[in-house]
This record gives sequence, C-alpha cells and structure tokens, in this order.
Amino acid sequence: RAKETGKARCVIYNQIIFNQVEHDVSMEAAMFEAVRNGDFLLHYQPIVDAGTRRIVGFEALMRWMRPDIGLVPPNQFIPMAEDNGLINLLGAWALKVACFQLKRFQEAAGRQLYVSVNVSPRQFRSDQFIEMVDDALKLSGLNGNQLMLEITEGILMSDPEHAEQILTKIAARGVRIAIDDFGTGYSSLVYLKRFPIAALKIDRTFIKDLPESVKDAAICNVVLSLASHLSLLTVAEGVEDERQLAFLAAQGCTLIQGFHTGRPMLPNAVIEVLQADAPALHN
Ligand code: C2E
Ligand code: MG
Ligand code: MG
Ligand code: MG
Repeated sequence: RAKETGKARCVIYNQIIFNQVEHDVSMEAAMFEAVRNGDFLLHYQPIVDAGTRRIVGFEALMRWMRPDIGLVPPNQFIPMAEDNGLINLLGAWALKVACFQLKRFQEAAGRQLYVSVNVSPRQFRSDQFIEMVDDALKLSGLNGNQLMLEITEGILMSDPEHAEQILTKIAARGVRIAIDDFGTGYSSLVYLKRFPIAALKIDRTFIKDLPESVKDAAICNVVLSLASHLSLLTVAEGVEDERQLAFLAAQGCTLIQGFHTGRPMLPNAVIEVLQADAPALHN
C-alpha cells in the first residue's frame, strides 16, 4: 500500500514538473516574440533627497506588456531571461533607453538628474558589458556621472577578480555603482574596501517595520553610519510612510525611494511631475 501511494505521488509529481516545463516553454517562446515586437517597457521610480525631498534621480524598472495578460512584473520574467540569455539583449536595451529617457527628464526639469539601471549577473559577466555601457553613454550623450548601475552582492563575491576589473573600468567612466538589496546577500565588508562602490541601497526588508522594530532600527543605524564613514550614498528602498522617512532622514540616510515619495511611472507621468516641479511630497 505504501508503495502504491508512493507511485501515485510520483505520477502527480511528474505531472507538476511536466506542466511547469510546458508553461516555461510557452512563456519562453512568448518572451522571444515580445523582444521582436518591442513589448518590454521601463517604468521610472523617483529617488528623492531625504532632506529636501526633491527628486535627484530615477530607478529604471522593467515590465513586460503581454497583450493577453497585461503588465508582467520583472520577478516573473527576469530569472528566465537570465537562464536563456535574453537578459543580455534586454539589459542592453534597458541601458540605452534609460539613458535616452533621462535626457528628456533633464530637459523637462531644467537641471541634472541621474538614472539607475539594474544589471543582472549574466549581463555583468558578459564580454560585451563595458561596450554596452559605452554605447548607451555615447548614443545618449550622457555624462558617466548621470548613470548609476545597480548590482547585487552575489555578483561581487562569485568572481572578485573579474568584478574588480569591470568595476574599475566602470568607475573610470565616472559611472557610479550601487549595491542593490544591501544586507540580503553575502554581506562581506571586504568588497566595500576592495571595489569602487558609490552607494548602498538598503533592502526593503530592513525598512518595512521601521521605526518600531528595534532590530531593524539597529541594522539601519549601523549601515548608515558605516556608509557615512566610507562616504557612500545611501538609498532606503521601499519607504512607504512618513514615519519611516523621518526616521531614516534623522539617522543620516541620504536618499529615499518608495511608494511614499513616488511610484514607478511611465515617462510621460515623470515629465509632468518634473515640469510642475512638484515637490515629491505634499505635506
Ligand atoms: P529592485 O532593484 O530591488 O527594485 C525595487 C523594487 O521595489 C521594484 O520592484 C519596485 O517597484 C519596488 N518598490 C519600490 N518602492 C516600493 C515600496 O514602497 N513598497 C514596495 N512593496 N515595493 C516597492 P519591481 O519593479 O517589481 O522589480 C523587482 C526586481 O526586478 C528589482 O528589484 C530588480 O531586481 C529586478 N529588475 C527590475 N528591472 C530590471 C532590469 O531592467 N534588469 C534587471 N536585471 N533586473 C530588473
Ligand atoms: Mg534595483
Ligand atoms: Mg533594490
Ligand atoms: Mg530590493
């Protein structure tokens, strides 16, 4: 009887695996099709100065517009793009479009801003990565210091020699590097010493329960103090209310990103906000 149950389970299990594979194959096909059709787009989320609350830059966040389904968030397709290699194409596209778009944003604002673009591990390892960055800067005419690249801790730790080489080249162009989701990866302090890092983005995990959570408050405190001693910018991710913002600003956090100060938006909405020169937040 136990054997039969086991067999039945096995059949069900295979069925699940089969459906998973079938689903992924059709999704993969849809994704290639979408690249051809240009169904990917970028939303831009404001990053504001914690003191003045003025917009200083934007993070470019990718979405996939599926005609049948609607907007698909990146967590549902970036991992697959990373596996099948499409991320190199998508990543290069995002870099160029974000740089071009920033030019328009700066014109609307009448002042300098920056754009922050996520870089996936596979893209970072690609031989063409530096070329992609150079192309985006050259075609858009942006200065290196108007571009920030977001990488995760894992990228640095998996092949430190290669990472050092690439990051040195990036830094030589004036392009700034941010550690995304800081505190959720390997969190080795060695890379803060070794690599030319400009900013730490404190992950939402440590922000969401502020200011009540004593542990999160302590973690944010130490990270902010470390960053300040190392002259690094700090971006708090996922700030959703005024109390979180006030706490972070009081602890010396330099930049704020979250629904409280601005949702990810389409370029036209960004331009409206900038033209009105609306403060990011109305008190
Ligand atoms: P991330 O780089 O850590 O981006 C921040 C995520 O937090 C975004 O999710 C953003 O919409 C969300 N967020 C911002 N403020 C708040 C808030 O106040 N509350 C909450 N709950 N969430 C907030 P999104 O757009 O779904 O992106 C998810 C992840 O997908 C990103 O995390 C990034 O790792 C990846 N991703 C997005 N665009 C790209 C891209 O162009 N290339 C690559 N390689 N990865 C990307
Ligand atoms: Mg990011
Ligand atoms: Mg992040
Ligand atoms: Mg995050």
